[in-house]
Amino acid sequence: MFDILFSDFMVRALLAGAATGLAAPAVGTYLVQRRLSLLGDGIGHITVTGVALGLLTGASPTATAVGVAILGALVIELIRATGKASGDVALALLFYGGIAGGLMIVSFAGQGAFALQSYLFGSIVSISDADVWVSIALAAVVITLSVALRPQLFAVANDEDHARTTGLRAGYYNVLISVLAAVSVSVAMRTVGLLLVSALMVIPVATAQQFAKGFRATMFAAMGAGLLAAVVGITTTAYVDAPPGATIVLVSLLGFAVTAPVGVLVQRRRQARVPFEMAEEPEQQRVLEPHRHQHGPGCGHVAVEHGDHVDYIHNGHRHAVHGGHYDEH
Ligand SMILES: [Zn+2]
Ligand SMILES: [Zn+2]
Ligand SMILES: [Zn+2]
Repeated sequence: MFDILFSDFMVRALLAGAATGLAAPAVGTYLVQRRLSLLGDGIGHITVTGVALGLLTGASPTATAVGVAILGALVIELIRATGKASGDVALALLFYGGIAGGLMIVSFAGQGAFALQSYLFGSIVSISDADVWVSIALAAVVITLSVALRPQLFAVANDEDHARTTGLRAGYYNVLISVLAAVSVSVAMRTVGLLLVSALMVIPVATAQQFAKGFRATMFAAMGAGLLAAVVGITTTAYVDAPPGATIVLVSLLGFAVTAPVGVLVQRRRQARVPFEMAEEPEQQRVLEPHRHQHGPGCGHVAVEHGDHVDYIHNGHRHAVHGGHYDEH
């Protein structure tokens, strides 16, 4: 019964899946932190054109996919850096252009949408030895840079303006995050598929965020969750005839759903500890200016619920009453 797991194509699929499961959430943690959860999805759409170019020219679709994915990531960063309000629409146009262009090119190549299908949804049987080695090599680059440059990348993903004021070349690291996302899309293409790749960048991170405290722990927990989802998903397709991408994503979602109740408990516990943690940070407690009244319900200032307490917006800043003093934000 376990023989099928050791057949050549299953070993290849498991290796490629493991590489994907580790790399996608590593980059995904930065995307979630940047509130760009769907960036991977956008790059995935653009990459359809890259795969189509490979099918048209007879070049390796993986190579053309990496090229177009990185180019797409650079264009996205350019639009984000220049446009503000219209950036959203510009990105949408880029994504639709990517998928429509890809379908058009494939039809010129004399191959229907069928030829694209294994790239759109992933396919275990079509993974070659070369695909596995390229996937592992690219994933190793993504994981190494994501982990080694964590302080810089986190600073930029967390608060770009603040990172800039500390002298960090934020633009450079922003581009790097997008390029790493583009490479992960190309890695995930063979197993998860271009249309579902974003799910493996986001769902394991969402699962990890329920328990893990701090960015570093979240990142490694997400990589563990991604690896588990990929291996369980691909193993399942050895026994059930289902597309690997859909199976991996559904296993990943199942993991999120199963762990959600535990996550709620962990969050509650953490919130109960908050007052003690705040007391350990005396530098946050300052009385900056005299107050003519004690803030409270109906005092005329806008009240904002904030964790375990209520802040009042006052002269352009937020204050919370804590005993006899105000906490400044
Ligand atoms: Zn007030
Ligand atoms: Zn507050
Ligand atoms: Zn005040």
